[in-house]
Amino acid sequence: RPTPLTLLGTGAMGTALARAWLAAGHPVTVWNRTPARAAALAGQGATVAASAADAVAAGRLVITCLLDDASVGATLDGADLTGRDLVNLTTGTPEEGRDRAAWAEARGARFLDAGIMAVPPMIGAANSGAYVFYSGSAALFEEHRDTLAVPAGATYVGADPGFAALHDVALLSAMNGMFAGITHAFALIRRQDIAPKDFAPLLVSWLTAMAPMAHQAAERLDSGDYSTDVVSNLAMQVAGNTTLLRTAEEQGVSPELLTPYLALMERRLAAGHGDEDTTGLIDLLLTGR
Ligand code: NDP
Repeated sequence: RPTPLTLLGTGAMGTALARAWLAAGHPVTVWNRTPARAAALAGQGATVAASAADAVAAGRLVITCLLDDASVGATLDGADLTGRDLVNLTTGTPEEGRDRAAWAEARGARFLDAGIMAVPPMIGAANSGAYVFYSGSAALFEEHRDTLAVPAGATYVGADPGFAALHDVALLSAMNGMFAGITHAFALIRRQDIAPKDFAPLLVSWLTAMAPMAHQAAERLDSGDYSTDVVSNLAMQVAGNTTLLRTAEEQGVSPELLTPYLALMERRLAAGHGDEDTTGLIDLLLTGR
């Protein structure tokens, strides 16, 4: 039987989640600070609660999808969480996840933190690849796994409530680096008579071909052996970087997105690691030297 659930926060993401659960036949009670945004879901079968405390009282499984951790605290302030299963789909830091877990447990609730790897149009859509990282109470996850998996795939990453946010933010950080590279690449071709639409497929297939390098980095981190004779080593890469920088200069493109990463390579090379690949840069970020 579909599990009844309460959803606090019907912004863009909360609304998409609510629609997916409603479509799958789950009874959903919603609350939103601005009532009009929750009321819009009534027509689709949601019950609209008059207050956050009322919404929490309506059922055992309580899901928050609010702006940030502070809004979660503010929203749940007057609610009785005793015996509740609280699942926080609000983006936050690992530390916020751990603190919120302790906060919820002190109020008699089981707790799962989460990080959503999707944008709202992907929620509830077949084969969209959308999924959510969960961490915290394994018992809660096991009990509600099927319900949680309705809007998007559910991936449990550990009992430490900070791990969902850590996985989420690590992936987002990698994505930022990729977008920085895409931004620089388009800037390089922009001054020339090269159609962006012709260039984009080349960019996508190159990035796709290079992404599996992450597996090699993982193997090297495990073995502790960063030396390479297969891919270009740091000494060669640093020498090659001058070509990247001179090209940016020739094209009149600011190198500001490129230089921090090149500077890191130079520091690792200067420390005597010219025979390695770039895995040692990870250690450099951890130790600062
Ligand atoms: P929206 O800006 O659309 O909605 C924000 C929600 O938070 C609204 O319900 C808003 O209420 C509520 N809110 C803000 N401040 C408070 C407060 N002080 N007290 C109570 N409620 C408050 O954001 P999204 O729905 O897109 O995002 C919700 C969460 O989902 C965020 O943590 C976001 O990082 C995460 N997420 C979103 C993604 C996306 O692509 N949209 C992707 C992955 C994660 P009100 O309507 O009254 O303003």
